[in-house]
Amino acid sequence: MTAPTPRPEILTISPYVGGESSIPGVNRSYKLSSNEGAFGVPPLAQKALRDVAAETYRYPDGGAELLRAAIGKRWDLDPARIVCGAGSDDLLYQLCLAYGGPARDIIMSEHGFTIYFIAGVYAGSRVIKVPERNLRPDLDAMLAAVSPSTKAVFLANPNNPTGAMISESEMARFRAALPPEVLLVIDSAYAEYVMRDDYNPGERLVDATNNTIMTRTFSKMFGLGGIRIGWCYGPPGVIDVLNRIRGTFNVSVAAQAAGVAALQEKGWVEKGREHNAIWRPKLADGIEATGIKVWRGEGNFVLADFGVTETANAADMFMRQRGLIVRRVGSYGLPHCLRITVGTAEECTMVIEALSDFMKQARG
Ligand SMILES: *Cc1c(COP(=O)(O)O)cnc(C)c1O
Repeated sequence: MTAPTPRPEILTISPYVGGESSIPGVNRSYKLSSNEGAFGVPPLAQKALRDVAAETYRYPDGGAELLRAAIGKRWDLDPARIVCGAGSDDLLYQLCLAYGGPARDIIMSEHGFTIYFIAGVYAGSRVIKVPERNLRPDLDAMLAAVSPSTKAVFLANPNNPTGAMISESEMARFRAALPPEVLLVIDSAYAEYVMRDDYNPGERLVDATNNTIMTRTFSKMFGLGGIRIGWCYGPPGVIDVLNRIRGTFNVSVAAQAAGVAALQEKGWVEKGREHNAIWRPKLADGIEATGIKVWRGEGNFVLADFGVTETANAADMFMRQRGLIVRRVGSYGLPHCLRITVGTAEECTMVIEALSDFMKQARG
């Protein structure tokens, strides 16, 4: 019997596997596999979610006006040039579908965020992955990969899972060297964690050009990954396109309320940044002291590099026995590494102890 079939390229996509959240047979587990913030949901957002419950029979405001106004106020951006989505993944998909397509190539970096590949292939694009150097995007090689078919370039800054950051001046040079008809998408999901002063999440480049867009999220620093809120800031032409194609009611009543409330939580970002500034280096130093190489990066995670896939998998199994769930990153082309979120102080300490015991055992 003949059955319905999708476009052939769809079946070349491997389903995205997110970080696991529990281990069968282990009582207490510690989820350090999805880079969720270390402090849970902001209390004001929790309250807003409870308060809004009785209103959720209403359709949401399709324009997310209050949320866009709150975002605009927080980051000093024009709300008319902001579009919200059901997570930034939603917006990344919409950008791929609108600007990609058959014979419209998308360029990304070898170890860039997987969603660009999935959404790009879904759109019908050829997605070109440009080799990295030292786990950093090779911007010159990415420029060399541009052809007349290239329609968009996706860069996470800092990148997940490598943590690699591109400075503001490097990014501006890259933009200037790209053809003006190529859309540059800067995915700044971890912007709130970056402490370096040669960094800008992208809004200045968006303002200086008409072909650059920045995406952001409430899923990491703002602790709302389960609620799904992302946003982007872009030039009027791209914003107009997104407003034509996005899901009409893509951000729920609950999400809009939680997002607005999260932005009102005093000191939330400061607390998260401070914790990360203390514990990311402590976690990295602690892991390195056991003899494992660490790629530190600028996000709320580190990448432990075991050199060999078997050792990374054995370390993962060892940590799981203690309830510690981290992220295998074979799907990012890094099967010899494990990505570990900077959790609470207790969680970081448990990871260091576990890896230290693992290495002692491995040495015999
Ligand atoms: C977590 C993450 C996102 C955010 O995804 P949401 O859909 O907003 O939850 C986007 N880009 C990168 C690189 C990420 O790591």
